[in-house]
Amino acid sequence: MCLFCKIIKKEIPANIILEDDDFIAFHDINPKAPVHILAIPKKHVNSFNEVSSSTMSGMTNFIQKVTNEVKIQESGYRIITNIGSDGGQEVGHLHFHILGGAKLKWGHLSDADPKGHF
Ligand code: AMP
Repeated sequence: MCLFCKIIKKEIPANIILEDDDFIAFHDINPKAPVHILAIPKKHVNSFNEVSSSTMSGMTNFIQKVTNEVKIQESGYRIITNIGSDGGQEVGHLHFHILGGAKLKWGHLSDADPKGHF
């Protein structure tokens, strides 16, 4: 069973913010911003590559509830999902990083030539 499935089953503790039948949100153990929350579907999905549109529909509503709950909707925030090796995905269970609580930086994400791919 994957790490996040164990959190869903409460076999591993997590600092949970919001939970319903289909989704759960908890604080990232290694925060990269003052607010750093992970929102995940309870149904195991490896990554965004495999998620259904119906799960994403529910995820949209759930993330909106989470950002309202932690009061970052007005100040703003960023949603990131890392996918696969180049995306830097470390945990193989779809998760959305919700980052905020301060003005976030935005810069080059790779040392490779940004115009090199196309
Ligand atoms: P990613 O690199 O996109 O796969 O992100 C995985 C995230 O999971 C990282 O930000 C980790 O800090 C976070 N993480 C790993 N283990 C735990 C845990 N037990 N509880 C909360 N967050 C975790």
